[in-house]
Amino acid sequence: MAGARQVTSSAFGIDDLPVRDELRGKFPYGAPQLDVPVQLNTNENPYPLPEPLVERITERVREAARGLNRYPDRDAVELRTELAAYLTRTGKHPLTAANVWAANGSNEVIQQLLQTFGGPGRTAIGFEPSYSMHALIARGTGTGWISGPRGEDFTIDVDAACAVLAERRPEVVFITSPNNPTGTAVAAETVLALYEAAQSARASLVVVDEAYVEFSHRASLLPLLADRPCLVVCRTMSKAFGAAGLRLGYLAAHPAVVDAVQLVRLPYHLSAVTQATALAALEHTDTLLGYVETLKAERDRLVGELRAIGYEVTESDANFVQFGRFEDSHAAWQRILDRGVLIRDNGVPGRLRVTAGTPAENDAFLDAVRDLKKEQSA
Ligand SMILES: *Cc1c(COP(=O)(O)O)cnc(C)c1O
Repeated sequence: MAGARQVTSSAFGIDDLPVRDELRGKFPYGAPQLDVPVQLNTNENPYPLPEPLVERITERVREAARGLNRYPDRDAVELRTELAAYLTRTGKHPLTAANVWAANGSNEVIQQLLQTFGGPGRTAIGFEPSYSMHALIARGTGTGWISGPRGEDFTIDVDAACAVLAERRPEVVFITSPNNPTGTAVAAETVLALYEAAQSARASLVVVDEAYVEFSHRASLLPLLADRPCLVVCRTMSKAFGAAGLRLGYLAAHPAVVDAVQLVRLPYHLSAVTQATALAALEHTDTLLGYVETLKAERDRLVGELRAIGYEVTESDANFVQFGRFEDSHAAWQRILDRGVLIRDNGVPGRLRVTAGTPAENDAFLDAVRDLKKEQSA
């Protein structure tokens, strides 16, 4: 066979396959998963699920197991109804199952949104530094990516952002609030200004990613959904609900958006086991949100102590804190890791990000950065 390569050596790699051009030379997303005593790098909730909830999950999954010969509820109606009730109760905005859609993590929700509203010949924008998965999912769906600006203090400058929207006219606009990795919340007025600008440029879909909103000092932006059919709010059970392993994300929007994403979702995408587990977790919302209060207090303690040590800290509305500055943030990350504490270098120049863990984990982290400061000022 002329031109065919032989698959005989381990030197054969991705780029030897007929993969799409835009994937060549790229690496999969992922924080290093290192086996160290204190892991504060992926914004997970440090508290394991409480035992009564583990029991309830076991019960509900056992029940679901009896019906596993059948496909699951394709529309996940019971789960969407309970998610809508949770949002209505906590978000001060009435929603029903028709406004809510769920998938395997909010990453899948975002993928479905980009499959529906992005794609080849279209573009999406995010204001960076922000959640890098938005750009990666854009690439995976063939959607062009625009890196929008943020100010020196990591807030979104409304005039600068609106100017880019007017000029580039993206089909999808991502606003992450609170933002990852900076922790910065976005004011409702900013979202409204961007929504207006995006609608006058073209009828763009504006996606507010509220993965961390339960940790915020500010209220959810859910009430903005009223009369704004092109606005979407994305949520997840990975952070506040302490269920990253469950893989359950969801969105709230006008029912037409929910109808639209169903054009691309795989049939039966959400397994009966996932639906049963998520429903069990929602029965224990109050207990789980209790941990959120502890984590908010720990987050505030981290901010205060890091400032007292002499670090520059970005205001945080999330369960993590961005701090610096470092001449060489990667070297600083390594020094902290050498002390048994894994945090995250998100590639923001001079800054690192630490997730709020248990009080003991946070103490270990603070000891490590105190040592580092002494070393650096010695
Ligand atoms: C962690 C995170 C998510 C959550 O993704 P899941 O797929 O639900 O685990 C979404 N958006 C942002 C900004 C995040 O940091």
